[in-house]
Amino acid sequence: MSAIVNLSGEWISSFIQNNKIYNEKVNFEQQEDKLIADIILNYDNEICKYRFNGKINKNIINGTYEFIENSEIESGTISLKIINENFLYGVATYISDDENSDDIVQSPYALFRNTNNNLGTFNLCSNCVGKSATCCCNPNVDSPMILPKEAETISKDMKIDIEKFASKVDFSKMHNDYTLKDLYQMKRQDNSNKCYFYRDNKCTIYEIRPIDCRIFPYDIKLEKDGNYYLVYYKTNECQILNENIKDIKMVSYNTRLFLRLLLPYIREWSDKYCCSHLTENHDYEIICKIEDLF
Ligand code: SF4
Ligand code: SF4
Repeated sequence: MSAIVNLSGEWISSFIQNNKIYNEKVNFEQQEDKLIADIILNYDNEICKYRFNGKINKNIINGTYEFIENSEIESGTISLKIINENFLYGVATYISDDENSDDIVQSPYALFRNTNNNLGTFNLCSNCVGKSATCCCNPNVDSPMILPKEAETISKDMKIDIEKFASKVDFSKMHNDYTLKDLYQMKRQDNSNKCYFYRDNKCTIYEIRPIDCRIFPYDIKLEKDGNYYLVYYKTNECQILNENIKDIKMVSYNTRLFLRLLLPYIREWSDKYCCSHLTENHDYEIICKIEDLF
């Protein structure tokens, strides 16, 4: 059966390995129901190239990928659902690269069409292209929180000391029982409200941006009842919200799936002290309970 959409073009993938999010550049070429792709992964500064061969049946893609320099070293399968022409979601399955294990590993695997805007997580962010993105430059929006591992990765990749781009937020001074002592907050540029890494209307650390950036204008909030909730900030300034409930629902549908990729981080990232700060400073609306998403 022939495909219903044309997926040819450049995409960015996200997957998780050893609790770290990786992104790949994926170039799809579609001929009727056949889909091939060149995949380039920057794996801890080593460039790895893969070739994907798949078939589209209705809104499902199934295929295999191989490491193109030596197909015996690494191969696996990818199954994806076509959510829309800009967003695919599914699972990648491969054999563990840990030499002490030959376990089969599965990772959630999401693909977003690359619109070259380097803004936000959703293609709908295109409304902000060419202008200052209101999430990255708005004094009314908190600068993103950065987890310790994220700060280390940004520092290493950008060859900048953490103190240059982030301030340590030590909640332990306010709360004796607080355990996450090395949480950071992004600094703004001198004489400007823009994020330290926002240059020429783009995020210059897009592929390694903090999780807090990845899901804006959504957030994860721990409520007083002890449950984690998906919320969105009630702001007119983000173009994708635009006070349109249909947009909010459509985008939150994509977010629900994307959250699977972020799951390992959720408890570390959203805790009662960050959440009380969110409540004090921002108006928000609850969409659903996180446990209902899975
Ligand atoms: S303000 Fe909203 S629409 Fe604009 S880049 Fe940020 S998340 Fe996207
Ligand atoms: S790191 Fe990137 S996405 Fe996050 S606030 Fe800065 S410019 Fe925006």
